[in-house]
Amino acid sequence: MRDFSNDHLWLSINTATVRMQRGQPWGLAQILDACAARGIRAVSPWRDQVAAAGLAATARQLRALGLELSGYCRGGMFTHAGGTAGAAMRDDNRRALDEACELGAPCLVLVVGGLPGALAGKPVHKNLAGARAQVAEGIAWLLDEARARRMPLAIEPLHPMYAADRACINSLEQALDLCDALDPAGGGALGVAVDLYHVWWDPKLAAQIARAGRERLLAFHVCDWLVPTRDLLNDRGMMGDGVIDIRAARALVEAAGYGGYSEAEIFSALDWWQRDGGEVLDTCIERHRRCV
Ligand code: ZN
Repeated sequence: MRDFSNDHLWLSINTATVRMQRGQPWGLAQILDACAARGIRAVSPWRDQVAAAGLAATARQLRALGLELSGYCRGGMFTHAGGTAGAAMRDDNRRALDEACELGAPCLVLVVGGLPGALAGKPVHKNLAGARAQVAEGIAWLLDEARARRMPLAIEPLHPMYAADRACINSLEQALDLCDALDPAGGGALGVAVDLYHVWWDPKLAAQIARAGRERLLAFHVCDWLVPTRDLLNDRGMMGDGVIDIRAARALVEAAGYGGYSEAEIFSALDWWQRDGGEVLDTCIERHRRCV
């Protein structure tokens, strides 16, 4: 297992971690500069941030700063209620792939969607099995588009509490079953993003990480699970402040062959988004060394 205690060579910052600073929200250009100034080598930006900063300008800035991506957030949201929504979903995912290519991302992260309409508070049906079938269909379609661009797809299973509104793929096992069904030969075109916030509780975690192996393990996201968690979406903890044995989980992914970045992804409306962004990044570096 790699020793992270003396440097932060393998720390990546998911840019949502420092996007909402109270009083002084950070734009993507400022985030990239602040990461590079601290010797952070990689980031994972969100599409709306890239759109606001400009795709070409962001690609230029990444190159100028020598920053890599550990992923691109995000494609997916495959479930829809029909009509023109299917075509809109496909257009949006094609654009996400093209952006990921232009930015040199190692993978496009997929949050697959839940019951259509649920995210807006108006689910149009209760057919979760149907939603899951639609997700499988959507990923099968996108996989062809992704292969044509040589852009790997990373399915991110979300904690079951998001099954209705954000993602109806809720465990690593379920995600890997889908990988095996849609991409039986493997080879790295389709895999998973292991986000500890979503999967830390899973009694099958170790077995499923081993099953995933090097070819399916495309991203590793870290934060912590606070007790109590005050907000299901935006109260993620800083590494070391909660109950996830992050280092043990990293040992599992590394034993399975993963050698990439640990991406700090902390949505924290009540704490870290209230602080200065520089303090947040400095704390990520320190906790990466001590707790990841
Ligand atoms: Zn994540």
